[in-house]
Amino acid sequence: MRIDRGAAAESFSLRPGLRTGGRMRLAETIDVTFPDGSRLSQPPGRTAGELLSAWHPEKAAEYLAARLDGLLIDLARTVDRSGPLWPVTFEDRVGREILHHSAAHVVAKAVTVAAPGSLPTVGPGSEEGFYYDFDMPPITPELFERIRSVSQRIVSEDQPFERREVSREEALRLFALNPHKRGYVEKAAAGEGITIYRTGDWIDLCRGPHVPSTRWLAGLYLLGFSGVTQGGAPGGLPLQRVRGVAFPTRALLEEYRTMRREAEARDHRILGSRLELFHFVEEAPGLPFWLPRGMIVLRELEKFVGEHLRDAGYSEVRTPLLFSSTVFETSGHWEHFRDNMFLTSVDGRPYGVKPMNCPGAMLVFRARARSYRELPLRLAEWAPLHRLEASGTLHGLTRVRGFTQDDAHIFLTEEQIETEVRTLLRWIREAFSTFDLAWKLELSTRPEKFLGEIAQWDRAEALLRGVLDSSGAPYHVNPGDGAFYGPKIDVYVRDSIGRSWQTGTIQVDYQQPIRFGLEYQGADGGLHRPIVVHRTVLGSFERFTGILLEHCAGRLPPWLAPVQVRLLPVSERHLARAEELAREWRGQGIRAEASDSATTLSKRVRAGEVEKVPYLAVVGDTEIATGQVTLRIHGEKAPRALAAAEAAALLVDRIRQRSFRP
Ligand SMILES: [Zn+2]
Ligand SMILES: [Zn+2]
Repeated sequence: MRIDRGAAAESFSLRPGLRTGGRMRLAETIDVTFPDGSRLSQPPGRTAGELLSAWHPEKAAEYLAARLDGLLIDLARTVDRSGPLWPVTFEDRVGREILHHSAAHVVAKAVTVAAPGSLPTVGPGSEEGFYYDFDMPPITPELFERIRSVSQRIVSEDQPFERREVSREEALRLFALNPHKRGYVEKAAAGEGITIYRTGDWIDLCRGPHVPSTRWLAGLYLLGFSGVTQGGAPGGLPLQRVRGVAFPTRALLEEYRTMRREAEARDHRILGSRLELFHFVEEAPGLPFWLPRGMIVLRELEKFVGEHLRDAGYSEVRTPLLFSSTVFETSGHWEHFRDNMFLTSVDGRPYGVKPMNCPGAMLVFRARARSYRELPLRLAEWAPLHRLEASGTLHGLTRVRGFTQDDAHIFLTEEQIETEVRTLLRWIREAFSTFDLAWKLELSTRPEKFLGEIAQWDRAEALLRGVLDSSGAPYHVNPGDGAFYGPKIDVYVRDSIGRSWQTGTIQVDYQQPIRFGLEYQGADGGLHRPIVVHRTVLGSFERFTGILLEHCAGRLPPWLAPVQVRLLPVSERHLARAEELAREWRGQGIRAEASDSATTLSKRVRAGEVEKVPYLAVVGDTEIATGQVTLRIHGEKAPRALAAAEAAALLVDRIRQRSFRP
């Protein structure tokens, strides 16, 4: 095969080729462009895997699937049209999803082998990896071990994943014994193509794509099993869930298992209740209770973000939590998001609790005539949002039903996007370096199904790419993964044990302004349509607190610590001085408290450690005589003897600077 790097391809073939529109045509040349801009021209008939291997043979083993003009396809698929051809690897989020989902097929096959008669239902990806739900009697630990070993065997047998398009009738026949799968076939819209994937002698209904064969799943690992109900609904059909993760190599799996042991030791749900930050009750799943200490953390985070918003020219609004369904019909939530909304009725009309702040912001913009002089109009709103997440997916603060985002909507013109995104990138850099979190961005471009004009999309994408390139921000492109209304940049952070978390997002939206009929008067006197940029950086304060707690293993930086310093009197006769200093320091804005002297000093020092108080100040005879305190700073071996005022100044300085370490 021949690769033209950059040059326009002109190879031509006379071999009879594809059938198009019912008549035979001379073979066209398939002209694909790779991510680095190089091109390859070929007669039709080559698979995506072959073309990508010709591009970079040394990386062929890393390719899991491909994107042809944004559409995800198997490597074994024949490339039948020209367009950009991109590899999908484990480095890509979609690559990981494809790998996980392929592993789910293996597990489904293993379960039906280990427990004949089990009926696979659905096997989607999860935040951690994947799961598959089965209609079967409860799984026992012995059966689980058998499922594990059968899965391993399937992986080692290197069975290919083969895709086939089938008719509805054939699909119904193939899944005659599984009413769940039959139900999915029946629900498929008329005209929607039905595809199945075969792994050895086992088939599953699936849109794909998949990795080429089970050998790609060398690092498959089953995490556990549990009983769930179908759709997470109480009283639903009981199902058995098998959860797992998968990696392309054993080495990556080992790395993950080490990380997981670390993660268990710093589970934010345990830290949250031990440190009395928040808790949950059975009567309100997914809806956190913020306790007094947790409120301190929350308010400090809000203050931090609020300072940036003020400096960057945002103004704040507060709009209703409940809207009539007509507002959500306008925004499109009613059609696309209703199943995830809490619904109610008011005066006999359907109402919904808002799942996002967007509709409120649109209504504020529309409330009166707007001029170009007001743009960019940056409206921040941190309203409580509610989304009806399936109960099985809820997880501490990182997956909740009620949360508050550091959210804002910027109404602007196309020319203003660049400056705004640049400001946002600077803020992202500042915000995450404050938390000592590494971060990277993912730019998602026009999906297959999109609204608006291609030229508009191209302009917005080029703009975002330009800003990303010139800012030096680490980023990665997900072709075809944008929202249907515009391209977006997603923000991912990497915590101290190597896990990646999505936090914020910057989305350029041309559609909401159309839906809400937003207009402003331009300098030319005419009416124009603004664009809206939805942006959140930390994501939600809830989720971010969960991530942060695990990142720092509960040892919050001093500026966020609910108790910043505890004064420890050596004995009862030093208590008055400890209390006096605590009062004085509180007056300087330090969250200081004095402990009593009921237990030994060493016990109280240990308690301070366990409660992760960053500074402990000991007051005894010597300290009182010299006007000093003995300051124990977490992370420093030797305590420091400092004049009381000097110690207070040190704390004030570290807190004001928001230093990550004490
Ligand atoms: Zn599948
Ligand atoms: Zn929004």
